[in-house]
Amino acid sequence: MAHVKLHIPGPVEVSEKTFRAFCQPMIGHRGQGFKDLYAAMQPKLQALLYTKQLVFLSTSSAWGVMEGAIRNLVAKKVLNCMCGAFSDKWFDVSKRCGKDAEALQVPWGSPIRAAQIDAKLATGQFDALTVIHNETSTGVMSPLAEIAALKAKYADVMFIVDCVSSLTAVKVEFDALGIDVVLAGTQKAFALPPGLTVFACSPAALKKAESAKDRGYYFDLLEFQKNAEQSMTPSTPSIGHVYALASKLEDIFAEGLDARYARHARLSKITRDWAAKHGFTTFPDAGFESQTLTCVNNGAKPGGRVVDVPKLQKLVKDRGFLIDGGYGKIKGTTFRVSNMGDETEATMNALYAAMDEAMKQL
Ligand SMILES: *Cc1c(COP(=O)(O)O)cnc(C)c1O
Repeated sequence: MAHVKLHIPGPVEVSEKTFRAFCQPMIGHRGQGFKDLYAAMQPKLQALLYTKQLVFLSTSSAWGVMEGAIRNLVAKKVLNCMCGAFSDKWFDVSKRCGKDAEALQVPWGSPIRAAQIDAKLATGQFDALTVIHNETSTGVMSPLAEIAALKAKYADVMFIVDCVSSLTAVKVEFDALGIDVVLAGTQKAFALPPGLTVFACSPAALKKAESAKDRGYYFDLLEFQKNAEQSMTPSTPSIGHVYALASKLEDIFAEGLDARYARHARLSKITRDWAAKHGFTTFPDAGFESQTLTCVNNGAKPGGRVVDVPKLQKLVKDRGFLIDGGYGKIKGTTFRVSNMGDETEATMNALYAAMDEAMKQL
């Protein structure tokens, strides 16, 4: 069967080079070969996250670390900042972990703003909060620097930040932001196969985890720290993913971080331009659009054109590309196009050409 190229917002298209790296022969995860592999990656991971902390590798999908962070870091009550399907789900996950949790819900399409968080934290009830930097379901990027600045006022509150669909595409300076956990699953902006999460913790988070009695084993932050000090992971990782990450880090640093950020900004802009050209509006509030995917409004909000999304998807798929038909409660009333990973002007223009053709048939 011919491969349909992925332009859904995760998993995204994986390069031949990455696949070749993934398929190298197995090595033992307690042997020198693995330690050398991880140790050689560590400075690049630290540069990518702008951190002096050790960067951890969890071969789970992002939800593993998202749940793990709750189990390790919430003792009193967690504030789950919610603006779309993934961030809304985190509230549910907090409760399933048996934690006292409160929702800070904003309408889908809007970002989370610092003033809203400030008002909640001022009650003194919370010792942790969760935020999703780039809410993939709505295509909204919340202002992380503005939110992180609150940490200075609430030093004892753990700031847990999901950068699943932004890390590597948008600058996230972990140490300078002063946040406590940053995490990213790699099937989105990293363009690796699904099944690996990269994350880092502040010294304060590691300290706090010490007193968490029910933090379990698999996502115990202290196990990650202890093992990472020896360039190892707590349990047997998917070694193929680790090879693939090493290969991808070569690509990322060959391009250069700033060039990579600029490329994503340009490609998301031309996707929005494509939407405008066809009479669509975009779903996010103006000024808070994601730089890695575009959530096109298709009747979820007033204004702009409305088309038959499944039909559009089919016409585009017939031309070799998969776009997404909207997620959760905005399925069909939005659709999404990803520019994550290795996409360029040329590859995106091939997609827009197919989408232009498809639009003529609607
Ligand atoms: C995809 C995604 C997740 C969930 O990732 P899994 O790999 O399914 O665990 C979490 N947060 C965001 C922002 C995402 O885009």
